[in-house]
Amino acid sequence: ASVRSRSKHLFNRAKAVFPDGTTRATVEKDPSPIYVQRGEGAYLIDVDGNQFLDLNNNFTTLIHGHGFAPVSQAVADLLRSGTCFANPTEHEIALAELLTARIPAMERVRFVNSGTEAVMFAIKAARAFTGRPAIARIEGAYHGAYDWAEAGQGVSPGKDGWTPMSVATPAYRGTPASVADEVHLLRFNDVEDIEARLRAVSDRIACVLIDPMPSRAGLMHPEPAFIEALSQTARKHGILIIADEVLNLRQAYAGASARYGLNPDLVTAGKIIGGGFPIGAIGGREEVMRVFGTEDAKPLLPQGGTFSANPVSMVAGRAAMEAMTPDAFDRLEAMGERLRAGLSASIARCGASFSVTGAASLFRIHPKRVAPVEYRDAYLSVEEAWLMRRMSRSFLEAGILLPYGAAACLSTPMVDSDIDLVLSAFDEFLAAEIQSGKE
Ligand code: PMP
Repeated sequence: ASVRSRSKHLFNRAKAVFPDGTTRATVEKDPSPIYVQRGEGAYLIDVDGNQFLDLNNNFTTLIHGHGFAPVSQAVADLLRSGTCFANPTEHEIALAELLTARIPAMERVRFVNSGTEAVMFAIKAARAFTGRPAIARIEGAYHGAYDWAEAGQGVSPGKDGWTPMSVATPAYRGTPASVADEVHLLRFNDVEDIEARLRAVSDRIACVLIDPMPSRAGLMHPEPAFIEALSQTARKHGILIIADEVLNLRQAYAGASARYGLNPDLVTAGKIIGGGFPIGAIGGREEVMRVFGTEDAKPLLPQGGTFSANPVSMVAGRAAMEAMTPDAFDRLEAMGERLRAGLSASIARCGASFSVTGAASLFRIHPKRVAPVEYRDAYLSVEEAWLMRRMSRSFLEAGILLPYGAAACLSTPMVDSDIDLVLSAFDEFLAAEIQSGKE
């Protein structure tokens, strides 16, 4: 087992200043977090000197891995001239031009500082445009921490199993109960459901919020019939579609909606477009984006933000995105395909009760014989959750950081031998499980 003494020491220090010792709930601690010393391309080196292949990449943000030279250079050049201003800079125009040129649904853009903020302003924009208060969203999907975007993300079965349709209870204790009145839940890939639900409440619904491949809900492919039904019903009832591509923009040069045939009115982005610095973006049809203001009228939705469009994130994002050429996307796609196929072949060889989902540079391993098509299929029992913990631990021993219960991702500095490392770690894990009689 690798040494963790320095990480343990830091964790003890952290417990005196942070509730539970961490400053974000998403930090993995099993039993203590691994404190990072530095990153180098596809790899992380922790404070105890252990090296790990990083399949987390700060929750899929770092599409070029760590210390990507063009980003470091662009930021270093910029820092000498200041870091943020109340005035606009040319840098924000350049990143906006890049995004609008690539992503068909982004005719106009606004920058903010996180995916949470992007989703929040997209929902507010849809409300302002339609004059309607409520939203519809996919059961189990994660969209950041805005109250209305959160409700319905952590639905679980009751003691009698799943309800036919779970109510969108507010996500956390103390949230106003009224939030639930304004959030309607839909099931991913469920066509019948979507038509019935939206029709019944259509005059109150501003938008459907959908991640084309919801990661925490299972990282499942959207079925074309579902995309079609969603689009038609929304259009018929004047409901806007918000594609939350904070995570999945990394699936293609033109983004995930374009890849899956979805034509959203608004798109949210974040993560990769900031090159490793805080960012969020709301993009959309010119007509809808007018709620943020036009040259001659007061905005329906004034959106500001002290650090919005700060030039550091703008130049870093541009450097990262410029390097993501169509060829770079193709290469990641091919590596991802090889990895997913290899994992599936291992599962088939052992007859193990696992499956793999994902696309492009993203993958997720499920302790389920049949690959999930919606959240409820991907939901883990207590035993399955333990199995996944054992898998993450086993990968760690093999020198790989595999995110627990979320999307794992590849980065451009990865090479074939990195993929081989992941495949052999998975083989070893399956063999150990079979030998211990657990699988
Ligand atoms: N939407 C989606 C689809 C996400 O995956 C995330 C972050 N994982 C968010 C929104 C929130 O983004 P942030 O963490 O930057 O606030």
